[in-house]
Amino acid sequence: MNEESFTNALKNKTILITGSGSGIGRQAAIDCAKQGATVILLGRTVSKLESIYDEIVNNQYPEPAIVPLDLLGATEKHYIDMAATIESQFGHLDGLLLNAGILGDLRPFAQIPEKQWQEALQTNVTSQFLMTKALLPVLKKAPHASVLFTTSGLGRQGRAYWGTYCVSKFATEAMMQCLADEYSNSTIRFNAINPGPTQSAMRTKAYPAEDESSLKTPADIMPHYIHLLSDASIGTNGQSVDAQAE
Ligand code: NDP
Repeated sequence: MNEESFTNALKNKTILITGSGSGIGRQAAIDCAKQGATVILLGRTVSKLESIYDEIVNNQYPEPAIVPLDLLGATEKHYIDMAATIESQFGHLDGLLLNAGILGDLRPFAQIPEKQWQEALQTNVTSQFLMTKALLPVLKKAPHASVLFTTSGLGRQGRAYWGTYCVSKFATEAMMQCLADEYSNSTIRFNAINPGPTQSAMRTKAYPAEDESSLKTPADIMPHYIHLLSDASIGTNGQSVDAQAE
């Protein structure tokens, strides 16, 4: 799979990307826009969203929308209001990339502070539950909708000192599987993508001594994201896909 295989693969689609101000989400926003999608940029840092908005517009890709939202503080009402705005502005939603996430601190299980646990589960899991729940009616209105969760190798195999993050990613995989099964006869498909080791602020926080240049860049792994968000993946449901060999 390479970038050349896609031209206008997301034309006329509206795709919401969480955590689109930086890291993998930022690249996904640019590449989705490049493929013709109108991207809804969701994140907590408005200046980062504005910068990506400018980059997309300067490239003459479809004008994106900005939704500033802190997933940590957002309540169910925020998601319901957001879904109503999307419905009134766009009519339906073709894609939802649930990319935002936090690592938390790596530490022995017995020393995980309750606050860190609650914040990671709120940001990485509960926000995805509330957002997906609120957006289901708008996703149902699309001819074919793709919901793409972001998992990790640590969402499949537990590892010492990664307790909070691991549990949040196992829960993400479970949420994807439950939804995929429940909506298997619908026009909405649910899958997860594991980026694999990829240059980003989160990766540097987790592995500060690593040589970053040895890692894939977010741009390198984008063809897998585009494939799973485009109609090329209709029929793929309930899968947890690796964006690179680990
Ligand atoms: P980054 O830390 O670079 O990006 C995370 C994004 O999530 C940022 O845009 C950040 O916004 C946003 N975010 C965090 N907390 C909140 C919040 N409370 N409200 C709104 N947005 C928030 O990480 P990556 O790009 O590496 O990670 C993207 C996804 O990929 C994550 O789900 C991660 O777990 C997963 N992943 C990454 C791997 C890697 O090697 N990079 C490997 C496996 C999985 P802001 O910029 O404003 O802080």
